[in-house]
Amino acid sequence: MTNKTITPPISTARRRPLPAALLAVFMGLAACCGARADEPRPDAVPGGIALVQLRPSATEPTATYDGRQILVTGSAPLHWHAVVGIPLSAKPGRKYVQIESRGWHYSAPFDVHSKHYATEHITMKNKRMVNPTRADLRRIAKERDQIDGALSHWTPRPPDSLAFIVPLHGAVSSPFGLRRVFNGEPRQPHSGIDIAAPAGTPIVAPAAGKVIDVGDYFFTGNTVIVDHGEGLISLYCHMSVVKVIEGEDVSRGQILGEVGMTGRTTGPHTHWGVALNDTMVNPTLFFPSRTAFEEELKPPAAVGAND
Ligand SMILES: [Zn+2]
Repeated sequence: MTNKTITPPISTARRRPLPAALLAVFMGLAACCGARADEPRPDAVPGGIALVQLRPSATEPTATYDGRQILVTGSAPLHWHAVVGIPLSAKPGRKYVQIESRGWHYSAPFDVHSKHYATEHITMKNKRMVNPTRADLRRIAKERDQIDGALSHWTPRPPDSLAFIVPLHGAVSSPFGLRRVFNGEPRQPHSGIDIAAPAGTPIVAPAAGKVIDVGDYFFTGNTVIVDHGEGLISLYCHMSVVKVIEGEDVSRGQILGEVGMTGRTTGPHTHWGVALNDTMVNPTLFFPSRTAFEEELKPPAAVGAND
Protein backbone atom coordinates (compact mmCIF):
# COMPACT_ATOMS: atom_id res chain seq x y z
CA MET A 1 0.00 0.00 0.00
CA THR A 2 1.42 3.40 -0.89
CA ASN A 3 0.54 6.67 0.79
CA LYS A 4 -1.45 7.56 -2.33
CA THR A 5 -3.72 4.54 -2.23
CA ILE A 6 -5.97 4.05 0.73
CA THR A 7 -7.96 1.08 1.85
CA PRO A 8 -11.46 2.11 2.91
CA PRO A 9 -13.03 0.64 6.02
CA ILE A 10 -15.03 -2.42 5.07
CA SER A 11 -18.74 -1.78 5.29
CA THR A 12 -20.53 -4.42 7.24
CA ALA A 13 -23.32 -2.11 8.40
CA ARG A 14 -25.28 -2.89 5.25
CA ARG A 15 -25.39 -6.59 6.07
CA ARG A 16 -25.25 -6.82 9.87
CA PRO A 17 -25.95 -4.10 12.45
CA LEU A 18 -22.75 -3.15 14.31
CA PRO A 19 -22.73 -3.42 18.10
CA ALA A 20 -23.67 -0.03 19.62
CA ALA A 21 -20.21 0.55 21.17
CA LEU A 22 -18.42 -0.18 17.91
CA LEU A 23 -20.90 1.97 16.05
CA ALA A 24 -20.22 4.90 18.39
CA VAL A 25 -16.45 4.57 17.80
CA PHE A 26 -17.02 4.29 14.08
CA MET A 27 -19.30 7.35 14.00
CA GLY A 28 -16.66 9.28 15.94
CA LEU A 29 -13.99 8.26 13.44
CA ALA A 30 -16.21 9.18 10.54
CA ALA A 31 -16.85 12.60 12.06
CA CYS A 32 -13.16 13.26 12.64
CA CYS A 33 -11.80 11.82 9.42
CA GLY A 34 -14.62 12.17 6.97
CA ALA A 35 -13.95 8.69 5.58
CA ARG A 36 -16.78 7.09 3.68
CA ALA A 37 -17.58 3.54 4.60
CA ASP A 38 -19.00 2.77 1.18
CA GLU A 39 -16.12 3.55 -1.16
CA PRO A 40 -15.41 0.81 -3.68
CA ARG A 41 -12.58 -1.61 -2.95
CA PRO A 42 -9.42 -0.26 -4.55
CA ASP A 43 -7.82 -2.63 -7.07
CA ALA A 44 -5.48 -0.66 -9.31
CA VAL A 45 -5.36 -3.08 -12.25
CA PRO A 46 -6.80 -2.89 -15.77
CA GLY A 47 -10.59 -3.04 -15.30
CA GLY A 48 -10.19 -2.08 -11.62
CA ILE A 49 -10.53 1.06 -9.52
CA ALA A 50 -7.85 3.30 -8.00
CA LEU A 51 -8.68 5.41 -4.95
CA VAL A 52 -6.32 8.35 -5.17
CA GLN A 53 -5.87 10.52 -2.11
CA LEU A 54 -6.02 14.23 -2.93
CA ARG A 55 -4.52 17.23 -1.11
CA PRO A 56 -6.55 18.92 1.62
CA SER A 57 -9.08 21.38 0.28
CA ALA A 58 -11.90 23.40 1.82
CA THR A 59 -14.06 22.66 -1.21
CA GLU A 60 -14.47 19.57 -3.36
CA PRO A 61 -11.64 19.33 -5.91
CA THR A 62 -12.30 18.55 -9.58
CA ALA A 63 -10.42 15.53 -10.94
CA THR A 64 -9.87 14.30 -14.49
CA TYR A 65 -8.10 11.25 -15.89
CA ASP A 66 -7.40 10.79 -19.58
CA GLY A 67 -9.55 13.89 -20.23
CA ARG A 68 -12.59 12.50 -18.42
CA GLN A 69 -14.06 13.85 -15.21
CA ILE A 70 -13.64 11.56 -12.21
CA LEU A 71 -15.93 10.86 -9.29
CA VAL A 72 -14.58 12.48 -6.10
CA THR A 73 -15.69 11.37 -2.64
CA GLY A 74 -14.85 12.48 0.87
CA SER A 75 -15.27 15.63 2.88
CA ALA A 76 -13.54 18.92 3.60
CA PRO A 77 -10.88 19.68 4.37
CA LEU A 78 -8.67 16.59 4.69
CA HIS A 79 -10.21 13.58 3.04
CA TRP A 80 -10.78 13.71 -0.69
CA HIS A 81 -10.38 10.69 -2.91
CA ALA A 82 -10.61 10.43 -6.67
CA VAL A 83 -12.36 7.16 -7.57
CA VAL A 84 -10.74 6.29 -10.90
CA GLY A 85 -12.05 3.64 -13.29
CA ILE A 86 -9.06 2.02 -15.05
CA PRO A 87 -9.67 0.74 -18.60
CA LEU A 88 -9.19 -2.98 -19.33
CA SER A 89 -6.82 -1.81 -22.07
CA ALA A 90 -4.61 0.20 -19.64
CA LYS A 91 -0.89 -0.64 -19.61
CA PRO A 92 0.62 -1.18 -16.15
CA GLY A 93 2.70 1.73 -14.83
CA ARG A 94 2.42 5.13 -13.19
CA LYS A 95 -0.62 7.24 -14.12
CA TYR A 96 -1.72 10.69 -13.05
CA VAL A 97 -5.04 12.23 -12.14
CA GLN A 98 -5.24 15.96 -12.94
CA ILE A 99 -6.66 17.96 -10.05
CA GLU A 100 -8.09 21.45 -9.89
CA SER A 101 -8.79 22.82 -6.44
CA ARG A 102 -9.72 26.46 -5.81
CA GLY A 103 -7.71 27.59 -8.81
CA TRP A 104 -4.69 25.36 -8.02
CA HIS A 105 -3.70 22.63 -10.47
CA TYR A 106 -1.62 19.56 -9.66
CA SER A 107 -1.19 15.91 -10.64
CA ALA A 108 -1.83 13.05 -8.22
CA PRO A 109 -0.02 9.81 -9.14
CA PHE A 110 -1.21 6.22 -8.86
CA ASP A 111 0.24 2.93 -10.10
CA VAL A 112 -1.59 0.43 -12.26
CA HIS A 113 -0.49 -3.16 -11.69
CA SER A 114 -0.79 -5.97 -14.21
CA LYS A 115 -3.54 -8.57 -14.00
CA HIS A 116 -4.01 -11.78 -15.95
CA TYR A 117 -7.52 -12.52 -17.19
CA ALA A 118 -8.44 -15.99 -18.46
CA THR A 119 -9.60 -16.75 -21.99
CA GLU A 120 -13.01 -18.22 -22.77
CA HIS A 121 -14.01 -19.92 -26.02
CA ILE A 122 -17.68 -19.56 -26.93
CA THR A 123 -19.50 -21.37 -29.72
CA MET A 124 -22.44 -19.44 -31.11
CA LYS A 125 -24.85 -21.48 -33.26
CA ASN A 126 -26.30 -18.23 -34.62
CA LYS A 127 -23.37 -17.23 -36.88
CA ARG A 128 -25.00 -13.85 -37.54
CA MET A 129 -24.29 -12.95 -33.89
CA VAL A 130 -20.55 -13.44 -34.57
CA ASN A 131 -20.35 -12.10 -38.12
CA PRO A 132 -23.35 -9.79 -38.53
CA THR A 133 -24.62 -8.78 -41.98
CA ARG A 134 -23.89 -5.33 -43.41
CA ALA A 135 -27.37 -4.12 -42.38
CA ASP A 136 -26.77 -5.52 -38.88
CA LEU A 137 -23.44 -3.66 -38.72
CA ARG A 138 -25.18 -0.35 -39.49
CA ARG A 139 -27.71 -1.05 -36.73
CA ILE A 140 -24.90 -2.11 -34.32
CA ALA A 141 -22.89 1.08 -34.99
CA LYS A 142 -25.94 3.27 -34.29
CA GLU A 143 -26.76 1.35 -31.12
CA ARG A 144 -23.11 1.43 -29.99
CA ASP A 145 -23.20 5.25 -30.25
CA GLN A 146 -26.38 5.39 -28.18
CA ILE A 147 -25.05 3.01 -25.48
CA ASP A 148 -21.64 4.76 -25.40
CA GLY A 149 -23.43 8.09 -25.07
CA ALA A 150 -25.35 6.82 -22.04
CA LEU A 151 -22.24 5.26 -20.44
CA SER A 152 -20.30 8.53 -20.77
CA HIS A 153 -23.10 10.54 -19.14
CA TRP A 154 -22.00 12.94 -16.38
CA THR A 155 -24.47 14.14 -13.77
CA PRO A 156 -22.96 16.49 -11.15
CA ARG A 157 -25.12 14.92 -8.40
CA PRO A 158 -22.95 12.51 -6.30
CA PRO A 159 -24.17 8.92 -5.92
CA ASP A 160 -26.36 8.21 -2.89
CA SER A 161 -24.10 5.26 -2.16
CA LEU A 162 -21.08 3.51 -3.61
CA ALA A 163 -21.97 0.26 -1.86
CA PHE A 164 -24.16 -1.90 -4.10
CA ILE A 165 -26.61 -4.67 -3.44
CA VAL A 166 -26.66 -7.52 -6.00
CA PRO A 167 -29.04 -6.74 -8.88
CA LEU A 168 -30.31 -10.34 -8.92
CA HIS A 169 -29.72 -13.74 -7.38
CA GLY A 170 -28.03 -16.39 -9.49
CA ALA A 171 -24.58 -17.72 -10.34
CA VAL A 172 -21.68 -16.07 -12.17
CA SER A 173 -21.55 -17.74 -15.57
CA SER A 174 -18.87 -15.46 -17.01
CA PRO A 175 -16.67 -13.19 -14.87
CA PHE A 176 -15.47 -9.69 -15.64
CA GLY A 177 -12.41 -9.27 -17.87
CA LEU A 178 -12.47 -12.65 -19.64
CA ARG A 179 -10.77 -12.56 -23.03
CA ARG A 180 -13.39 -13.98 -25.33
CA VAL A 181 -13.13 -15.92 -28.55
CA PHE A 182 -16.40 -16.43 -30.44
CA ASN A 183 -16.29 -19.36 -32.89
CA GLY A 184 -12.49 -19.05 -32.99
CA GLU A 185 -12.51 -15.26 -33.51
CA PRO A 186 -11.13 -12.97 -30.75
CA ARG A 187 -13.52 -10.24 -29.61
CA GLN A 188 -13.44 -7.49 -26.96
CA PRO A 189 -12.79 -8.71 -23.39
CA HIS A 190 -15.84 -9.19 -21.21
CA SER A 191 -16.71 -5.75 -19.82
CA GLY A 192 -19.27 -6.94 -17.25
CA ILE A 193 -20.36 -9.96 -15.23
CA ASP A 194 -22.81 -12.53 -16.54
CA ILE A 195 -25.19 -13.78 -13.86
CA ALA A 196 -27.18 -16.85 -14.90
CA ALA A 197 -30.65 -17.19 -13.39
CA PRO A 198 -33.99 -18.63 -14.47
CA ALA A 199 -35.93 -16.53 -16.99
CA GLY A 200 -38.29 -14.21 -15.12
CA THR A 201 -35.95 -13.65 -12.13
CA PRO A 202 -36.34 -9.99 -11.06
CA ILE A 203 -33.41 -7.62 -11.67
CA VAL A 204 -33.21 -4.68 -9.25
CA ALA A 205 -31.27 -1.43 -9.08
CA PRO A 206 -28.12 -1.99 -6.90
CA ALA A 207 -28.28 1.68 -5.78
CA ALA A 208 -30.54 4.67 -6.38
CA GLY A 209 -30.33 6.43 -9.73
CA LYS A 210 -32.12 7.60 -12.83
CA VAL A 211 -32.93 5.45 -15.87
CA ILE A 212 -31.18 7.18 -18.77
CA ASP A 213 -31.66 4.59 -21.52
CA VAL A 214 -34.05 1.76 -22.35
CA GLY A 215 -33.61 -0.06 -25.65
CA ASP A 216 -33.81 -3.31 -27.57
CA TYR A 217 -30.34 -3.74 -29.06
CA PHE A 218 -28.76 -6.25 -31.44
CA PHE A 219 -26.16 -7.66 -29.03
CA THR A 220 -27.51 -6.68 -25.61
CA GLY A 221 -31.23 -7.30 -26.22
CA ASN A 222 -33.62 -5.49 -23.88
CA THR A 223 -31.31 -3.15 -22.01
CA VAL A 224 -31.64 -0.67 -19.14
CA ILE A 225 -28.97 1.89 -18.22
CA VAL A 226 -29.06 3.63 -14.81
CA ASP A 227 -27.15 6.82 -13.96
CA HIS A 228 -26.15 6.86 -10.27
CA GLY A 229 -24.40 10.25 -10.52
CA GLU A 230 -20.88 11.64 -11.14
CA GLY A 231 -20.13 9.17 -13.92
CA LEU A 232 -21.17 6.01 -12.05
CA ILE A 233 -23.44 4.20 -14.53
CA SER A 234 -24.77 0.64 -14.55
CA LEU A 235 -26.31 -1.42 -17.34
CA TYR A 236 -28.42 -4.58 -17.49
CA CYS A 237 -28.82 -6.61 -20.68
CA HIS A 238 -30.79 -9.50 -22.24
CA MET A 239 -33.97 -8.81 -20.20
CA SER A 240 -37.19 -10.57 -21.19
CA VAL A 241 -39.28 -7.69 -19.82
CA VAL A 242 -38.33 -4.11 -18.88
CA LYS A 243 -40.27 -2.59 -15.98
CA VAL A 244 -38.98 0.99 -16.00
CA ILE A 245 -39.09 3.87 -18.45
CA GLU A 246 -36.45 6.35 -19.54
CA GLY A 247 -36.23 9.33 -17.17
CA GLU A 248 -37.60 7.36 -14.21
CA ASP A 249 -35.92 7.79 -10.82
CA VAL A 250 -35.28 4.39 -9.25
CA SER A 251 -34.55 3.55 -5.65
CA ARG A 252 -32.14 0.86 -4.45
CA GLY A 253 -33.86 -2.50 -4.81
CA GLN A 254 -36.49 -1.28 -7.27
CA ILE A 255 -37.26 -3.81 -10.03
CA LEU A 256 -35.83 -2.81 -13.42
CA GLY A 257 -36.93 -5.88 -15.37
CA GLU A 258 -36.66 -9.65 -15.58
CA VAL A 259 -33.97 -12.09 -16.69
CA GLY A 260 -34.32 -13.22 -20.29
CA MET A 261 -32.22 -14.17 -23.29
CA THR A 262 -32.77 -11.36 -25.79
CA GLY A 263 -29.77 -10.30 -27.93
CA ARG A 264 -26.54 -12.34 -28.10
CA THR A 265 -26.90 -15.03 -25.42
CA THR A 266 -26.60 -18.78 -25.14
CA GLY A 267 -29.00 -18.99 -22.17
CA PRO A 268 -31.00 -16.85 -19.73
CA HIS A 269 -28.67 -14.49 -17.85
CA THR A 270 -28.08 -10.84 -17.07
CA HIS A 271 -25.00 -9.09 -18.34
CA TRP A 272 -24.28 -6.51 -15.63
CA GLY A 273 -21.88 -3.71 -16.46
CA VAL A 274 -20.67 -0.82 -14.30
CA ALA A 275 -18.91 2.27 -15.64
CA LEU A 276 -16.88 4.94 -13.86
CA ASN A 277 -15.55 7.86 -15.92
CA ASP A 278 -16.82 6.21 -19.13
CA THR A 279 -14.75 3.10 -18.33
CA MET A 280 -16.17 -0.37 -17.64
CA VAL A 281 -14.92 -1.66 -14.28
CA ASN A 282 -15.34 -4.83 -12.25
CA PRO A 283 -18.77 -4.62 -10.53
CA THR A 284 -17.63 -6.83 -7.61
CA LEU A 285 -15.43 -3.93 -6.39
CA PHE A 286 -18.63 -2.27 -5.11
CA PHE A 287 -18.95 -5.03 -2.47
CA PRO A 288 -16.86 -5.44 0.71
CA SER A 289 -15.10 -8.47 -0.80
CA ARG A 290 -15.38 -10.89 -3.70
CA THR A 291 -16.63 -13.50 -1.21
CA ALA A 292 -19.26 -11.10 0.17
CA PHE A 293 -20.47 -10.53 -3.39
CA GLU A 294 -20.71 -14.27 -4.07
CA GLU A 295 -22.53 -14.90 -0.77
CA GLU A 296 -25.05 -12.16 -1.49
CA LEU A 297 -25.49 -13.48 -5.04
CA LYS A 298 -26.71 -16.91 -3.91
CA PRO A 299 -30.44 -17.44 -4.32
CA PRO A 300 -32.26 -17.33 -0.94
CA ALA A 301 -32.62 -20.84 0.48
CA ALA A 302 -35.81 -22.54 -0.71
CA VAL A 303 -38.56 -22.45 1.90
CA GLY A 304 -38.95 -25.88 3.47
CA ALA A 305 -42.20 -27.82 3.17
CA ASN A 306 -43.01 -27.30 6.86
CA ASP A 307 -42.32 -23.55 6.95
ZN1 LIG B 1 -21.79 -10.58 -20.54
